[in-house]
Amino acid sequence: MKKYRTGKTEDGKDSFSIPLEKDQDGMIGRECPNDECQPKYFKISTTIPDEMASKASEFSQIDLTCPYCGTSANMQQFHTESQMEWVKSMIFRDVSKTFQDMMGKAFRPTSSSPKGMFSISVSFKPGSLPSVRHYVEEELKRTVICDACSFNYAVYGISFHCPLCGEGNLLQHLNRSANIIRVLIEECERIAREKGADVGRQMIGNALEDVVSLFEAFLKQIYQYEIKKRFNKEDAESRITKIKTNFQRLEGAELFFSRDLALGLFAECSQENKLFLQEQFLKRHVITHNLGLIDVKYIEKARVYEKQGNELEITPADVLKALEIVETLITNASFHLSKKE
Ligand SMILES: [Zn+2]
Ligand SMILES: [Zn+2]
Repeated sequence: MKKYRTGKTEDGKDSFSIPLEKDQDGMIGRECPNDECQPKYFKISTTIPDEMASKASEFSQIDLTCPYCGTSANMQQFHTESQMEWVKSMIFRDVSKTFQDMMGKAFRPTSSSPKGMFSISVSFKPGSLPSVRHYVEEELKRTVICDACSFNYAVYGISFHCPLCGEGNLLQHLNRSANIIRVLIEECERIAREKGADVGRQMIGNALEDVVSLFEAFLKQIYQYEIKKRFNKEDAESRITKIKTNFQRLEGAELFFSRDLALGLFAECSQENKLFLQEQFLKRHVITHNLGLIDVKYIEKARVYEKQGNELEITPADVLKALEIVETLITNASFHLSKKE
């Protein structure tokens, strides 16, 4: 530890500055200090982009923003549990070494003791020192380069803020996910030509399922983020548990947003687009639960004259249109809610 000593604090305590080990991507792990935050863990690059060069000199003392919950605090508050364990194990090893050295000096072996006297012979053999507990950073697959400041960081799933500049980054994730679905939609015609119509059909069906998942996942994240900000822990948890599969249906999501967040999810969506999206969501239900074959429920709900048992007709153009409506809904929801802060 001696080599890390930087001096004494104002109240006379020794202070140390211990460099953290970077992972193979040059990142270090961070953990949000907010107890209520989930999943807390993220990683940040140790390279500061030129735009934020002013922060580079005191990097270890800057304020960070949690990408998940928006908590802002000094960098030193964001150490991970394993990093703290590692530091503690180094201190423990140091203390043990000092103690062993002390004992070694105090109990020098004596070659003889005066005869007739009651004596204790003590020998001290220094044992092995406790080992330092090393840690490895977790692997996070989602790396983000902030649109606003170019800082590089990694998160689980979706992040709301850039840790360095604090800017909202949700729409960046949305664009990325939507573009992946766009590629699938574009490719399904080629796949149908090369691998057969049924493979193409399956692929476009999967793309439609992805659109519904996008709607569900993003709105769920936005809802949870806002609910945690507005309600106490218990109340927030009880509302969040009630989500279940409600966000797989337009009416479900609409109800939760209007009831708990006073936000009209479809306020800016035309009735025509809403009905169109409704139909696509019903189709998704048939694909997921009835092998893509039209059932009575679909005929009733979609109010269409189709023959039961027939294969659903899903076109790339429809899936693309559904994707665009969903993107607009999510963008609007995140825009209106962030404005209310
Ligand atoms: Zn957090
Ligand atoms: Zn940023």
